[in-house]
Amino acid sequence: MQMEQLVALCKRRGFLFPSSEIYGGLNGFWDYGPLGVLLKRNVRDAWWHDMVLAHNELVLQNGAPGLYEMTGIDCTIIMHPQIWKCSGHYDLFHDYMVDCRESKKRYRYDHVKGRNATWQGKTVFVTTMETENTQDALEQAALKFFGLRKKDAPNLTWEGMVTPISQLADFSNVLGPDAKTVGTLTEPREFNLMFKTVIGALGGEEDTSFLRPETAQGIFVNFKNVCDSTRVKIPFGIAQIGKSFRNEITPRNFTFRSREFEQMEIEFFCHPSESEKWYRYWRDRRFRWYTGLGLAGDRLRLRDHDKDELSHYSCGTADVEYQYPFLPEGEFGELEGIAHRGDFDLRSHMEGKLVRAGDGLTLELDADGQPRHRGSGKDLSYYDEVTRERFIPHVIEPSAGADRGTLAFLCEAYHVDQVPNDKGEPTERVSLKFHPRLAPIKAAVFPLVKKDGMPELATELYGELKRHFSVFYDDKGAVGRRYRRQDEIGTPYCVTVDGQTRQDGTVTVRDRDTLEQWRVKKDDLTAELRERLS
Ligand code: ATP
Repeated sequence: MQMEQLVALCKRRGFLFPSSEIYGGLNGFWDYGPLGVLLKRNVRDAWWHDMVLAHNELVLQNGAPGLYEMTGIDCTIIMHPQIWKCSGHYDLFHDYMVDCRESKKRYRYDHVKGRNATWQGKTVFVTTMETENTQDALEQAALKFFGLRKKDAPNLTWEGMVTPISQLADFSNVLGPDAKTVGTLTEPREFNLMFKTVIGALGGEEDTSFLRPETAQGIFVNFKNVCDSTRVKIPFGIAQIGKSFRNEITPRNFTFRSREFEQMEIEFFCHPSESEKWYRYWRDRRFRWYTGLGLAGDRLRLRDHDKDELSHYSCGTADVEYQYPFLPEGEFGELEGIAHRGDFDLRSHMEGKLVRAGDGLTLELDADGQPRHRGSGKDLSYYDEVTRERFIPHVIEPSAGADRGTLAFLCEAYHVDQVPNDKGEPTERVSLKFHPRLAPIKAAVFPLVKKDGMPELATELYGELKRHFSVFYDDKGAVGRRYRRQDEIGTPYCVTVDGQTRQDGTVTVRDRDTLEQWRVKKDDLTAELRERLS
């Protein structure tokens, strides 16, 4: 599938629009249109339903099968600035960037890649940010630099593999992605990804806070409140869905890397001796969730991080990754991370910012021997009344992106096939084969023609179905065209009221994927659709 086709469909049919488009757009921000909002809400609802409300898996606990508890929370986006100091985001949450002195553009250091191109004895390391057709983009850059035409391309010589510039010793022979001369890229510099904001009217340094870059910290700082108000017993999880903000240096690939996005996060608190078991449980459970909603096995994978990839606090992390079509052949992009975070977060909010020391963690001190960032000083340990043990729980964190999930479901759903038109001739059809739980519109109702009482019957049926599902009414154009319009937005079922409906009270139901059609009594339609959609 070509990504451009999906992007165009999303715009044309109202799934996604560039934010602030009439003012030229705003890089890294996207708006969900009338269908997109339904789709994303279905993704979030499926997650909340399956993870929080309806989870009923019996898991072995202390030798006996039991159900663990899951509860929810909804915290503010702006929180006490000290939270980000203790969590490590203030000091550590940055990317490296390089600037181009010539084009005045800024790039993420690890995203610029290139290759040595030689023409008539002169060699230049040409670069690009393009991920989908990297070599084509590099070729274009080299031709432009040497002042050549497309037909000269075979005479260029290429050396080595495509390499990120982060692997080069210096940039003196590097041609920046948008530059005309070599050597214009600066040395990499740190850039904090948190958006700053000022609280209140005075606006001093102490009034500066941040838009949260993740929802997780709101859960940790409320751990005690949740324990005290609900009397949940360990092991249990707290879930939160909400907006997060990261001032990404190079937002791109549609909604994949945005500056404002939504996360669906769980912090699962357990006894330290059981954390390995729970880590494996969540890692597998979260992978199954995606396959259960239709992401195919060969485009989805679970990848364990290597030891050197782990964050400073993590004892184990795995990513659920999807082969997004905008990535180079064979590459996967992160959809969700499942991390074993040990007791790092609760301890940080008790004691202050921690750093790794040998195998353990210790308080980071400044030059005067004082804590670099002080914690809350509150006791965030847990007391187990049965075992009479007090301990700081370990945490497993499945952290998913609602937008990356929605995008993966969109990519996976996109299909082009050949189906017969009204005259029986094969024609190309675009359809979004969403899992029925995710489809924005569950059924469309059509009167076959706009006469003979059919619109009245169809409107009545539409009103009835609307009480139960998101449904759509369409009486414009030939029925075949109406089917195509619904296929293109992923509606699983189309219901047509025709001449026979007045005689025997039946309607035709048509399946998006099999194209099968059958008749159902209209009074049985709600039950039939409910059964098929569940
Ligand atoms: P990446 O390495 O791609 O920047 P990350 O490892 O920083 O991602 P996490 O901090 O683990 O991401 O965030 C958890 C989830 O939040 C990610 O798996 C992803 O689904 C989502 N996410 C993170 N950053 C973005 C973003 N800029 N735009 C959209 N979703 C994001």
